[in-house]
Amino acid sequence: MHFSLNDEQLTFAKVVEEFAVRELNAATSERDAHGVFPVELWSACAKMGLTGLAVPEQYGGCDVDAVTTMAVLEALGYGCRDNGLIFSLNAHLWAGTVPIVRYGTSAQQRHYLPRCCDGSLILAHAATEPDAGSDTMGLTTTGSRLGTNWVLNGAKTFVTNAPIAGAFVVFASTDRAAKFGGVSAFLIDADNPGLRVSPPIATMGVRTAPISEVFFENCVVPGESLLGPEGAGMAIFTATMRTERAFILASAVGTMRRDLERCIEHARTRRQYGQRIGKFQAVSHRIVDMKVRVEAARLLLYRLGWLLDTGDPAKLESCLTKLYISDCFVRSGLDAITVHGGYGYTSEYEIERDLRDAIGSQIYSGTSDIQRNIAASLMGL
Ligand SMILES: Cc1cc2nc3c(=O)[nH]c(=O)nc-3n(C[C@H](O)[C@H](O)[C@H](O)COP(=O)(O)OP(=O)(O)OC[C@H]3O[C@@H](n4cnc5c(N)ncnc54)[C@H](O)[C@@H]3O)c2cc1C
Repeated sequence: MHFSLNDEQLTFAKVVEEFAVRELNAATSERDAHGVFPVELWSACAKMGLTGLAVPEQYGGCDVDAVTTMAVLEALGYGCRDNGLIFSLNAHLWAGTVPIVRYGTSAQQRHYLPRCCDGSLILAHAATEPDAGSDTMGLTTTGSRLGTNWVLNGAKTFVTNAPIAGAFVVFASTDRAAKFGGVSAFLIDADNPGLRVSPPIATMGVRTAPISEVFFENCVVPGESLLGPEGAGMAIFTATMRTERAFILASAVGTMRRDLERCIEHARTRRQYGQRIGKFQAVSHRIVDMKVRVEAARLLLYRLGWLLDTGDPAKLESCLTKLYISDCFVRSGLDAITVHGGYGYTSEYEIERDLRDAIGSQIYSGTSDIQRNIAASLMGL
């Protein structure tokens, strides 16, 4: 057993961290305040290979292993203070490119993947509906045959990247009487006249990642838009979410590490009652708790990556990792504000934003309650 990354992994992560620090942090607070997605920073991420991390090289991607991917995302989270941009990237990668890589026809892969990698096409994943959130199988969007085409009708909500997406992975029931709701997955271009995107939904955190409702109104798509076999939608959704929950909070470990360093620096320099606040046990213990969370989260994350690289599906570990890191992310966000006192509460210090961004991690990709349900079932309970 050894716990070190190899030279190649360390180099890639270092390059990404330096790139993020240098290029991704301008005007983050302003963009957060106004909910502005940074198109030009997305392009810069694409040039670094980040939009094609999980895509085979033949389509312009990096196709790196799980541990490397996690190391790169942790470095991105450490270097880039715009968690919304990183969240958009994660949505594009795990719920967008991965289903196409795994289930797309070679024609679909050739059509979509090169543009996903070069940054000219952003993907979104539309599963959640106003009345079907945790209970995805309760979705009511329908897909009906019309000759060789399909017609979709229904409404999706909380679709990350919807206002900026060029294409959507969409889940719809194509046979209500069938097992698992007879759900099928579709790949639908944003310029389809039957697809309408609402104005962005204002959110508490990850505010630079635009999130909208998406409506399908007699949306006609060709037969080739089906992603994977007809009726395989729920299996595709489940497998995609499992991958997403394995990777989506790798960047949060980097963010927590950055906040920890800022807290140590603040505790060493801020003086009250004639001494540095780090000398107060209440403050130093809080920072030690943050350190324990970073270390434990990293261990869970990289062990999961190692398992995935050995071919283990790591169903339980993916669940536990997402559950644990999201919890650490929120608790360390609160601790970072507490350590900084009133300054931590101001937007200027850019500490409070991390807490707002962290809270969503206990909701998206399956809430923490749902992760516990899945874990309990995998543990035979
Ligand atoms: C920032 C953000 C981005 C998102 N991006 C996307 C996206 O790109 N695409 C997409 O399709 N969706 C997206 N979502 C939607 C997300 O997947 C859902 O919000 C989530 O699955 C919960 O569904 P819900 O909001 O309807 O809550 P509900 O399912 O109504 O849950 C409400 C509460 O009840 C609890 N609950 C529900 N069922 C159970 C149960 N069986 N056992 C125990 N507790 C339960 C939940 O844990 C929660 O506390 C996003 C959400 C957020 C916040």
